[in-house]
Amino acid sequence: MRAGCWSAGGRFVALARWPDDPLAVGQQRLAELLQHARDNVPFYADRIPAVDRRQSADPASVLEQIPVTTKDDVEAHFPDQITDGSDPADWRLMSTRGTAQRLITIHGFAKRDAVRAANLRMLCDSGRYRPGLPSVEIPPEVCETVCGDLGETQTGVVSHVMGMLRQRQWRDTQPFRDLRGLIETHWVFHRQTYPGFGLHGSHPDPDTLNQYVARLRTDRPYLVKALATYLTTLARHLQRNDLPPLNIPVIKTMGSRVTPGQRSLIESSFGGKYWDDYGSAEFGTIANECVEHAGLHVYSDWFHVEVVDDAGNPVPDGKVGHVLITDLVNHTMPLIRYKIGDLGRIDRSPCPCGNKTPRLTVHGRAQDIVTLSQGRIQTTDDVLDFLEALPGVDSAQLVDCGDHSYQVSVVPAPNRPLSLDETKQAIVNWLSNPQDSSPPAVDVQTVATIRPESGGKFRYVK
Ligand SMILES: [Zn+2]
Repeated sequence: MRAGCWSAGGRFVALARWPDDPLAVGQQRLAELLQHARDNVPFYADRIPAVDRRQSADPASVLEQIPVTTKDDVEAHFPDQITDGSDPADWRLMSTRGTAQRLITIHGFAKRDAVRAANLRMLCDSGRYRPGLPSVEIPPEVCETVCGDLGETQTGVVSHVMGMLRQRQWRDTQPFRDLRGLIETHWVFHRQTYPGFGLHGSHPDPDTLNQYVARLRTDRPYLVKALATYLTTLARHLQRNDLPPLNIPVIKTMGSRVTPGQRSLIESSFGGKYWDDYGSAEFGTIANECVEHAGLHVYSDWFHVEVVDDAGNPVPDGKVGHVLITDLVNHTMPLIRYKIGDLGRIDRSPCPCGNKTPRLTVHGRAQDIVTLSQGRIQTTDDVLDFLEALPGVDSAQLVDCGDHSYQVSVVPAPNRPLSLDETKQAIVNWLSNPQDSSPPAVDVQTVATIRPESGGKFRYVK
């Protein structure tokens, strides 16, 4: 068993390691990607300007001339116009599980390898995690197996091998590739998956939460990776009942983010450090935090990340705008200057950790910002941190109904007084501008729990 672990793990460890100069590797891959997409992918044939190879143009400056690719573009040209004509037998379909527009993207063999390697890099960069240390994942209820990967069910390694033997599949490549994924999950990553909160929503009853706490204390994982809502609810439960911290050194979220305010709560209740990362089903992991915890280092050898304004023009470093991702590895279905739907900012100043790649700070979904009078905006993080700091409020969800009218659902904190009038007044004051002719209309109601969206994730600002 150990031999299987190391033979499967060895190549990944090498692939996952940061190269000496990730920016140079990325430049080379960007030039290759642009050439490949222009020659083989109908959607990009006219969008990518021809490069005179003798002039050796900077590929990043060529990239800036290419129009932004939207999710609508991908949907309208899927699959024939936006793929490279390679053999579909080698394709793996990935479904985005976002709360917004749902898309299918296609990964070839090389991209699947890169996704696995990026996942390993992200874990190893998080508080000295190493493959083999026990970890626990608590994904949203709907994707209990391999999130986003269509058609892959969770099977044990041994039963998978038995199935291959029974069906005489040992000459096929696909079952062997699946086998490698299984060996990684069970033997390399030593990973357990707990079920999500499901129908309980954001706030299961105390008995259910106690079961999660008991199981985490028994399993003693080195790393826990869960939906942000699950982490914050468990953290508040521990804090409220004066329960000792869980002593899990590395805490991470999947599929969603924690606000700055929730970070310290989670760290004290879980008794470890929170390590942020950024990724999606389309791309896998794109960036992660270093020991400085000040922005996420972009995997520049695998991705080119830009931040642009509404018109698609680059914004200065440090200014918030739309995040564009170019996947340097996926030649099967290239995504070039893809508008992923998040707001963020880039910091290219030197990081004390020595990593020279740019650092990305993500500010939440572009569709989930609240636009106030005079064009002021508040991101999901701002709204949630404000609402959760109000007296007697455990958690809350804000729906922007347009025309400066808002509906707020509040989960009251147990055993703490909550005044609906005072809560409402505080929200009105926070959303108002002194110059406003009339205050915003705010309706506040209490709820026992917040229900997830159909994909199993939660949206706190709609
Ligand atoms: Zn750093």
